[in-house]
Amino acid sequence: MALKALDIYKLLPKKNCKECGDPTCLTFAMKLAGGKADVDLCPYLDEKAKSILGATTRPPIRLVKIGVGERSFAVGEEFVLYRHDKTFYHPPGIIFAVSDSQAPEEIADVTIRVRDETFTRIGSDLRFNGIAIVNTSGSPEVFARAVATVEENADLPLVLITENVDALNAALVQVGSYQPLIHAATRVNFREMCAVAKKHNCPLVVKAQGIENLEALAKDCLAEGIKKLVLDPCPQSLGDYISTATALRQLAITRAAPDLGYPVFLDAACFCFQDAAIALGIVKYASVIVTPPLLPESSKAALTLRQNIYTDPQKPIQMNPGLYRVGTPGKDAPVLVTVNFSLTFFTLQGYLESSRVPCFMLIIDTEGLSVLTAVAAGKFNETLVRDSLKKFDIENEVSHKTLIIPGYAAPLSGRIEETTGWKVLVGPRDAAEIGEYLHEVWQKRG
Ligand code: SF4
Repeated sequence: MALKALDIYKLLPKKNCKECGDPTCLTFAMKLAGGKADVDLCPYLDEKAKSILGATTRPPIRLVKIGVGERSFAVGEEFVLYRHDKTFYHPPGIIFAVSDSQAPEEIADVTIRVRDETFTRIGSDLRFNGIAIVNTSGSPEVFARAVATVEENADLPLVLITENVDALNAALVQVGSYQPLIHAATRVNFREMCAVAKKHNCPLVVKAQGIENLEALAKDCLAEGIKKLVLDPCPQSLGDYISTATALRQLAITRAAPDLGYPVFLDAACFCFQDAAIALGIVKYASVIVTPPLLPESSKAALTLRQNIYTDPQKPIQMNPGLYRVGTPGKDAPVLVTVNFSLTFFTLQGYLESSRVPCFMLIIDTEGLSVLTAVAAGKFNETLVRDSLKKFDIENEVSHKTLIIPGYAAPLSGRIEETTGWKVLVGPRDAAEIGEYLHEVWQKRG
């Protein structure tokens, strides 16, 4: 049964030392009660208190950080089965795999691609997360050389894929301090793998087929002192992956099997339909997805899907209200009013840029609602337009008093004219037609 914050507080050392990252023991207790902190963050808790608090207060899926530095990322700490129940918090890391048998130039090319490739969508920079080096050669020396090639070209989170402890040790001489994810501990090698992971403070993947075997192995690795675990259920097919990953998530978030409360690993290269495997991994609970380098079209699809799934469905992505410039607009440039729903903003901005007509975008605060919804809900109204014109001092930016409003806001045109004193032109409903509209209507107006 879940403990209340006050019961938890009674068990804490009450030093208020802030070492857990919270300003007081009470705020830490409140976080623990909400399953949003880990008891291990308090170094002063005795083992008895830890055992009482541990099972009920820590997040149902542990947070595991992979790598160090700017590109490091954290996975796990999820609380729901369905995104619409709340939200998913930590997007899966998508990792490009290279083999240590590949030529150094090829390994370097993939590394540089992951280091530099950025896809900007709805105002966010989307990137792949790291490099997995697979020890296909079987040789510790070759593996270490491949890992060194990656390390020489970029500071990226790494996944070291080998079950050979000697190869792992050779690689960790190069990159041990960067806390790469080690793949994988098996029933056969787990003691040695745990010792290496512990020595370098690295997260460790445990690999076993079948949920019971996975649970037993995770428990054994925990007993060896490894808390930063990731689970690889070795699915035999995509259907097997969905059912196993769903069962793992269910068992973890209901706390029915605390030993399965870790992020999940998926190797998309094991399946013929790699794009489908990546998509399924993103929507169905994978936290680390390893794949051979993707073609450009697959890359964009994967990054877009991940961005969509890992945005909070209860909070539309919003732009800050304000006056935005497209190109270098002069005093006679058109002023287009629209909502602060970011998808609307970036779609319109893209079409305006391709129209090559410099202009102003006046973004009003509709709480992230789209034009149609904002008009229907009364969030897009004449008062807001009037206040925004004043607030952002539009009169001093342009030498005219004409606004262009979205086609779906046409019913408001009369009221906006009356309230603001500005002439209102009704633009197209579809942003794709805005370029033609500006050339035909704005530039040829009398
Ligand atoms: Fe309190 Fe422990 Fe946090 Fe210090 S580290 S503030 S003692 S909960």
